[in-house]
Amino acid sequence: MADSPERTFEPRPSVCPFCGVGCGIEYAPKSGKATGWKAPVNERGEICPKGAAAFDVVDHEDRLTEPLVRENGRLVTASWDEAFARITDAFGGIVEEDGADALAFFASSNCTNEENYLLQKVARVLGTNNVDNCARLCHSSTVAAMQDRFGAGAMTNTLADLADADVFLVTGANPAEQHPIIFRSYLLPAIRDGTELVHVDPRTNDTTGTATLHLPVRPGFDIPLLNAMARVIVDEGLVDEAFLDDRVTDFETFREFLESVDVGENAALAGVDEGDLRTAARLYGEADRAAVFTGMGMSQHHCGTDNVHALLNLALLTGNVGERGTGVNPLRGQNNVQGAGDVGALPDVLPGYRSVLDADARRRVAEEWGTEPPSTPGLTEVELTHRFDETVRGAYVFGENPVVTEPNANRVADAFHAVEFLVVHDLFRTETAEYADVVLPGSSWAEKAGTVTNTDRQVMRMRPNADLPGDARRDLAVVSELGARLTDAAFDYEGPAAVFEELTRVSPIYAGMSYDAIGTDSLRWPYPEGASSGVDVLHADEFESGDDTAALVPVEHVDPVDPVADDELVLTTGRVLQHFNSGAVTRRSGTLMRMRGEDVLQIHPDDAAERDVDDGEVVRVENDRGDVTVRAEVTPAVRRGTVFATFHYADPLVNVLTPDELDPVANIPEYKHAAVRVTVTADA
Ligand code: SF4
Repeated sequence: MADSPERTFEPRPSVCPFCGVGCGIEYAPKSGKATGWKAPVNERGEICPKGAAAFDVVDHEDRLTEPLVRENGRLVTASWDEAFARITDAFGGIVEEDGADALAFFASSNCTNEENYLLQKVARVLGTNNVDNCARLCHSSTVAAMQDRFGAGAMTNTLADLADADVFLVTGANPAEQHPIIFRSYLLPAIRDGTELVHVDPRTNDTTGTATLHLPVRPGFDIPLLNAMARVIVDEGLVDEAFLDDRVTDFETFREFLESVDVGENAALAGVDEGDLRTAARLYGEADRAAVFTGMGMSQHHCGTDNVHALLNLALLTGNVGERGTGVNPLRGQNNVQGAGDVGALPDVLPGYRSVLDADARRRVAEEWGTEPPSTPGLTEVELTHRFDETVRGAYVFGENPVVTEPNANRVADAFHAVEFLVVHDLFRTETAEYADVVLPGSSWAEKAGTVTNTDRQVMRMRPNADLPGDARRDLAVVSELGARLTDAAFDYEGPAAVFEELTRVSPIYAGMSYDAIGTDSLRWPYPEGASSGVDVLHADEFESGDDTAALVPVEHVDPVDPVADDELVLTTGRVLQHFNSGAVTRRSGTLMRMRGEDVLQIHPDDAAERDVDDGEVVRVENDRGDVTVRAEVTPAVRRGTVFATFHYADPLVNVLTPDELDPVANIPEYKHAAVRVTVTADA
């Protein structure tokens, strides 16, 4: 892409807008593409194909460049004043009639810390904690379990120190495709140096290719597998006695619980070879340093929180916490999914993960805002959507596309159709925007300044590489104006630095940071006030909870929500290298669409033969929630009885098939186990 006559591009060190790795990228004048710079995570400047294509959408012809409002059923262009007036009238009226809890605010894991901080401030100053972001849909269960047991819902370690591990246990993640620069720059060199990788995943994928051992677990049966590993570790004396004495409670209760765990039965239930399971337990238990990486294959279940609790048990039993090369390390999805939670875009916590129930925390925020946030936790993202035709009358959706990303998508579409007043703030007329009453044009990653926080807790700065198209405004300015028009609080910030400074005053985990000090480097949280640096390895002497010890917790398996009939298969969903989340951005990238233009359904050869499905044939995939047609890829990479598709495409919209039962603690939906029938279509 060359500089267009209307727009100016200039290379300035910024951060990739896609995954949570947080690679440094900037504009390359010669190619018009993105190139890497030597940044805190991608130290040699390497980037993956998605990052390289990040400019494809910046000057895309489909970009929204002016506000739209609905007139006689159609979205038509309008001035910013007209758009804001409609929002103010509608939201103001709803608050007056039914209170602020009749509103929902969907913040964005793809926008900056400052933008998310301001949006949750708007919601809370208005009087509601109904603010959430799509972290709810990916790792809220991981955060809930880790916050509960360890006091911090984030990677325990840093990418750099994990090279010291002797064993990587990678569960429900495929970093080779989903976090390619972490894989290439941190995991692969360690593996080449002798670190052994145990891969727990229903599919064979690019990560499996480097594994010592693969356990192709049945989707939804991680707890039997992990409990059986714990039993082997205890039976064979592979526990860390000193760590158990000093840092762990409830070992005896846990050992009694394990007596009910039969390794052979659990291996059969999990669908893995008992010998392999025992080998995996020995590899993990005998290692001097073993590090867990965990992904959405673990978290996106109706028992996601318990899945992660079972993983934490392994780390505590073996003393793999608080040292380099150990820990439990969630690989986060979007470029600021960690930060959106850090700054309080969650319904139960204020900035810095301080509970809304904590009166001191509310007072600290009130000193800054002039208004105390409400003390009742708000509703989570899917809970809010489910109430769109009931108690929730208005919604502001910022940089997310829930019509594609939420489960049971036909029900979601009905909900968005039913909500009384919807504002969508985004780069494109997404599938969600089609239901909106007002659409506000967003600013892309390349047009904004601010900070984002990556998967290993590094806060980094984004810088504009391009001016704004048309009449678009910076997202931070738009959210500030929204706050100024809807509330009496001060929203007159002089740019992201001023917002960040306020954030450091209300969020203890960012308290010692300053915007200027980040520079082109990074600062890592927790960074207490007065400290000279952030903390790299968490829980070294005491847990972030403030306790010296953490408890072992018995975790019982619960069956998946969808029973699977004899003629049905289990659909599990995931991501691929070339695309990103709802695909709203990557589906508009010519480069990435040339690499992978359509979704496929991976199906095992035996399952395909039973259904007369040939490789490349179009099949119908259906259940009581909906149906899609998609081309079959017949491959032994997926385990028998399971089929795999991505969730990146609006067509086929695979989420019409996924159930919307929620994890009882974190309210994350069940994305990884849906019973489906697969048949050859008549149109094939
Ligand atoms: Fe961007 Fe992630 Fe690729 Fe890095 S690994 S370039 S952050 S998509």
